Amino acid sequence: MLGAGFGGLELTALLSKEFGTEIDILLIDQSDSFFFGYSKLDVMFSHKLPEAVRFAYSNIEKPGVRFLQETITSIDPENRRVTTTKDTYDADIMVIGLGADYDPAATPGLVEGGNEFYSFEGVLKLRDVLPMFSKGHVVVGVTSTPFKCPPAPSEMSLLIDDYLTRRSIRNACDITLVMPFGVPIPPSPEMSNTLLTAFAERGIKYIGNSLVSALDQNRHMITLNNGEEIPYDLFLGIPHHRVPKVVADSGMTENGWIPVDRRTLKTRYPGVYAVGDVTSVGTPKAGIFAEGAARTVARTIIAELKGGDQPEDFDGAGICHVEFGENLVSRIEIVFPPDGSPYGIFTPASEALGNEKKEFEAHRLERWFNMESAVNLPK
Ligand SMILES: Cc1cc2nc3c(=O)[nH]c(=O)nc-3n(C[C@H](O)[C@H](O)[C@H](O)COP(=O)(O)OP(=O)(O)OC[C@H]3O[C@@H](n4cnc5c(N)ncnc54)[C@H](O)[C@@H]3O)c2cc1C
Repeated sequence: MLGAGFGGLELTALLSKEFGTEIDILLIDQSDSFFFGYSKLDVMFSHKLPEAVRFAYSNIEKPGVRFLQETITSIDPENRRVTTTKDTYDADIMVIGLGADYDPAATPGLVEGGNEFYSFEGVLKLRDVLPMFSKGHVVVGVTSTPFKCPPAPSEMSLLIDDYLTRRSIRNACDITLVMPFGVPIPPSPEMSNTLLTAFAERGIKYIGNSLVSALDQNRHMITLNNGEEIPYDLFLGIPHHRVPKVVADSGMTENGWIPVDRRTLKTRYPGVYAVGDVTSVGTPKAGIFAEGAARTVARTIIAELKGGDQPEDFDGAGICHVEFGENLVSRIEIVFPPDGSPYGIFTPASEALGNEKKEFEAHRLERWFNMESAVNLPK
């Protein structure tokens, strides 16, 4: 298993549970720890320390699983061979879940004159930048598509509003959100309307169907992809996404991402699957879909090795919790069917859903890291 993110951890947990020591699973990741994407926002606003949101891979003690902290330097999908900084490994079955990397330099001016809140380094920098900011134009903006967790820019707009209000400087600031979609969450008109209402109530300006193309640090101006300019003093950006270099070099990508069979997650190489953000499977780039895809692959591998019916196709379904600030969380149950249009069922924000989000995390920590105490949460 290449990559120990949402996809890799889910696949590994399921196969270990099914086969125990009957199979040999190598779980390879360059990092020493996992973190949930949304926890970066807690770090950015200093609600949590970085070490509190990281979960060490060394805690994975699962039968049949060996975690290797190594950087993958080449992938040969024809021969299912992986080379790392330490060794070369041959696999009977290879699953690629190496996620998406960021390329802030692809947006002129972003590195020099802006910030991004999608990488850990980015939020650590912002943790220091935010307290220095006291007035002016805040712009939350997407620079390209596709990008991870489509609700995250909307969440950031509400959370920065909260933050500035808490510091009693909200009146000295304005907030603008630049999004590539006409409405915040296109598959759910209800969620979108609720967000647009919240933006209007809090004086957050929504600019849809647009991307941020460039920043001019000297003039404090942002250029949108339609040529329009808007002023900024603090830019909170979503940088360009791309596959990790090792994946691009493997020759597996088409139009930037690994194509897979939408129903089975099989690549065009026999015995090679790909799950999650590294693919162009047709669901949004989000952990919940990476995990769902990994479940389909795990069931397929179990059926192939144990004999049995081909499992159900990847359903493209997932639950997403959306932060509204002020400790309120809403939920959308969203489906991207293989044929047909995506749709979502919306549940309005409440503190109870905030607890549900904590349980979501706790159950994954229990499954992936055997952290049993994690599910004992207050209701
Ligand atoms: C701010 C923010 C908020 C988010 N909120 C949510 C949310 O609420 N819900 C949700 O479902 N999703 C959310 N996401 C998205 C989610 O984090 C990702 O979509 C998810 O992590 C993708 O899972 P994955 O398994 O495909 O890849 P990842 O989890 O990114 O894992 C890929 C792994 O591959 C490893 N890797 C990469 N290259 C190499 C290499 N060369 N050698 C070795 N290892 C390598 C990386 O270290 C990484 O551990 C959020 C993301 C962000 C940025």
